[in-house]
Amino acid sequence: MNTVVKTTERQTGLSCPKCGCRDLRAYYTRAKINYILRKRICRHCNHEILTRERIEN
Ligand SMILES: [Zn+2]
Repeated sequence: MNTVVKTTERQTGLSCPKCGCRDLRAYYTRAKINYILRKRICRHCNHEILTRERIEN
């Protein structure tokens, strides 16, 4: 079960949507043309979160 988070913000305020904890580990990072794709996993409940961070110029 994945949660897709689309954001243009920095990820400093990101927390797990399932348990609410902020202890997320990024285990996959891929730079795209317009955004950075990251997969994060919650250390507490192992919930996976997919984030797309837009690159703003
Ligand atoms: Zn969690």
